Amino acid sequence: MTVTARPTPPELSFAGGFDPYVVRDDFPILSTTVNGKPLVYLDSASTSQKPNVVIEAVDTFYREYNANVHRGIYTIGERSTAAYERARATVARFINAPDAHEVVFTRNATEAINLVAYSWGRRNVNRGDAVILTEMEHHANLVPWQLLAQERDGDLEFIPITDDGLLRLDVFEVLLRLKPKLVAFTHVSNTLGTINLVAEMTEMAHAAGALVLIDGAQAVPHVPVDVQAIGADFYAFSGHKMLGPTGSGALWARRELLEAMPPFLAGGEMIREVHLRRSDFNDIPWKFEAGTPDIAAAIGFGAAAEYLMTLGMDRVREHERELTAYALDTLASELPWLELYGPMHADLRGGVVPFNVPGVHPHDVAQVLDRYGIAVRAGHHCTMPLHERLDLAATARASFNVYSVREDVDALIEGLREVVKLFGEPVR
Ligand code: PLP
Repeated sequence: MTVTARPTPPELSFAGGFDPYVVRDDFPILSTTVNGKPLVYLDSASTSQKPNVVIEAVDTFYREYNANVHRGIYTIGERSTAAYERARATVARFINAPDAHEVVFTRNATEAINLVAYSWGRRNVNRGDAVILTEMEHHANLVPWQLLAQERDGDLEFIPITDDGLLRLDVFEVLLRLKPKLVAFTHVSNTLGTINLVAEMTEMAHAAGALVLIDGAQAVPHVPVDVQAIGADFYAFSGHKMLGPTGSGALWARRELLEAMPPFLAGGEMIREVHLRRSDFNDIPWKFEAGTPDIAAAIGFGAAAEYLMTLGMDRVREHERELTAYALDTLASELPWLELYGPMHADLRGGVVPFNVPGVHPHDVAQVLDRYGIAVRAGHHCTMPLHERLDLAATARASFNVYSVREDVDALIEGLREVVKLFGEPVR
């Protein structure tokens, strides 16, 4: 492994176009074998694989300048603080945040949403106040609001979906008459892949006087995200789904909101002055980063954002749109008995393809696929209410990222043929 002081953006051997086969060379795990077969990784919506630049950024931190941040007045402490804050600036640039100090590092998207629910929510949601969510939310953007509503005696309302997985904006319009305090929804569904009309929905919510939180966990890795263009108030996302290390995530929020919010966790780093009976808090974002952060993960997160910006998020989206269209077409034509869910047009969805083999539990499907080195997720994907709405106990899910290629889809089709050889040809 080559170790450099600061990861430099990768040299791309293709200009203008996007070549996923070249990109794949940056991901060492993709040349491993599983059960004697080349790994076919189709679970990027759970967590993405990591390119060399990210692995090297983490490795270099621990080998060369591991030290706590914002504390040591010595060379490696200063270097680690500079790298940590540089990562914050890179992540801010990645989502076009106007100010890097509006980006709070968290462990993941879940923590980012909980931060808002605890800090902003407990100050602003009172008895009878409505918070509007949707039927397609991941549990991370559902359970924190349930706890808040129970504690504050608030009201939760839900934007329903159509049978093909689109949000009913006509019903949203009606719900907005409740004058909600907050509308919180996912940018891209982790189960159906639906890409929601976030800017339009934000405008509608603002016109009704509500603030907007967007769960961007499945958007930032796959579509260009510009928080200023979207106009939302809070935007939560995970670093580990966008090629960064596990333990990395972020909350972006408008400065005035963060400044007015009380701390979420308390302890070291988030304070300016502490007395025995009271304390003054640090400026944003550090007011929300109590204790020693996951410094290596944050630095790796910055390297991942840099890598994706070098690839170009427009090109990433186009690659995944094209691959999703290929997957939807070939799965439907090669395996006519396969049940597919979500919007059937790739323009309306990200690279997430949920499916079922009729009569076979998705866990069995996933287990058979694993024998052929194919990794898919099976279960409810942390969207139990969505599965209930669609009257499904569980689904299997294939999900893509920058390194996914048509051959992965072809391998999935061959793997599913093996499933039916074992369990019998299903009838639809
Ligand atoms: N929101 C969505 C839409 C997700 O898909 C996920 C994870 O799958 C999360 C939130 C939670 O992300 P994390 O596990 O990084 O907290």
